[in-house]
Amino acid sequence: MAFDYDPQNIFARILRGEIPNKTVYENDHALAFEDIAPQAPVHVLVIPKGAYMSLDHFAMEATAEEQVGFMQAVAEVCKQINAEDGFRAIANTRDHGGQEVPHYHLHILAGQPLGKMLAI
Ligand code: AMP
Repeated sequence: MAFDYDPQNIFARILRGEIPNKTVYENDHALAFEDIAPQAPVHVLVIPKGAYMSLDHFAMEATAEEQVGFMQAVAEVCKQINAEDGFRAIANTRDHGGQEVPHYHLHILAGQPLGKMLAI
């Protein structure tokens, strides 16, 4: 599968500093920031700094350093939220996954019981 990244997507613009964000954590390879329309008391997005459009794109083509850096950002977010009570991590992917922004992002939701995973 060919991954066709759109550099004008809103998260690419956040990474270029064209749009502000509420940063939770940042390292060389990843940025974590608050979702603009939170679906839970804690709703953080973790994104790679590289041009990857989806979880599978990132998993297949990101370097080991990028993947480690991304997971380190996830770890830092988990330290900052009340992870002991649990949380949900979601990576919506393309049409069937309901992905709206075509730059890989991991939603981390927490702060209250989140119910069943799916309600189709
Ligand atoms: P998805 O449907 O998985 O692509 O989720 C995209 C998410 O990005 C949604 O939860 C939006 O609320 C969020 N979002 C869109 N624009 C911004 C922004 N400028 N800053 C923070 N979050 C955003």
